[in-house]
Amino acid sequence: MVESYAIDSVDRSEVLRYLGYAGQEMTAELEERIDDGVGRCLSIGAPRGTWRIFEVAGRGAKGDGTPFVRLADTSLELLGSSMQEHMDGAVAVGVMAVTVGMAVERELRCLSLTDRVGQVVFDAAATTLVERAADACEASIVSAGHERGLFSNFRFSPGYGDMPMTTQPVLLQALDAQRQLGIALTDTLLMVPTKSVTAVVGLFEAVQPSTHASCAGCACFDFCKIRPTGHTCRG
Ligand code: SF4
Repeated sequence: MVESYAIDSVDRSEVLRYLGYAGQEMTAELEERIDDGVGRCLSIGAPRGTWRIFEVAGRGAKGDGTPFVRLADTSLELLGSSMQEHMDGAVAVGVMAVTVGMAVERELRCLSLTDRVGQVVFDAAATTLVERAADACEASIVSAGHERGLFSNFRFSPGYGDMPMTTQPVLLQALDAQRQLGIALTDTLLMVPTKSVTAVVGLFEAVQPSTHASCAGCACFDFCKIRPTGHTCRG
């Protein structure tokens, strides 16, 4: 299933963070460029995502000692100590991919040739937008877990910790993400469109210390399907 996310704003402070802003004085011109970059990104971005939930089929260690978490009905295996820790006790795993689409990619390439500052600003806006899309997709997994009486931790992406980038092709295949979302991989395992995110979310029978602690400040807040029902993902 492919979801489209209606995102009409992004957190400006996040854009500034991706720009490396640390309280320096900003010129009116730069302020305007940021507003323009964010506006352009929101207007041409098409945030979409897809996700599936797989049962945990087993866990253990490979011959070389690498821990693994095996999932049912897919060849996707989650490798490494980070996954061993993140999925400790998980009974299922939500697997997700999101992208903001090729129009953003084309704009980035065009700006790289014509407007270096514009490219840097637009890149930060696009990163903020794709992370917003990931929040929305994560909210869908949290909600689906809640419907099954399960509690979620938080999304964790290949390349973080010791989760290998070689997870990417199998993960994208498990979601049919090339066909569904148009996400391809380069030889070096980078996603195209570059403003795409893949991740896994653990689903547990008990509340986890890392279960979204409070609705106030929750990244999934705007997209949450549980909160409007008067419940929370903590049960
Ligand atoms: S908004 Fe509240 S109920 Fe929804 S995911 Fe966040 S913490 Fe859970």
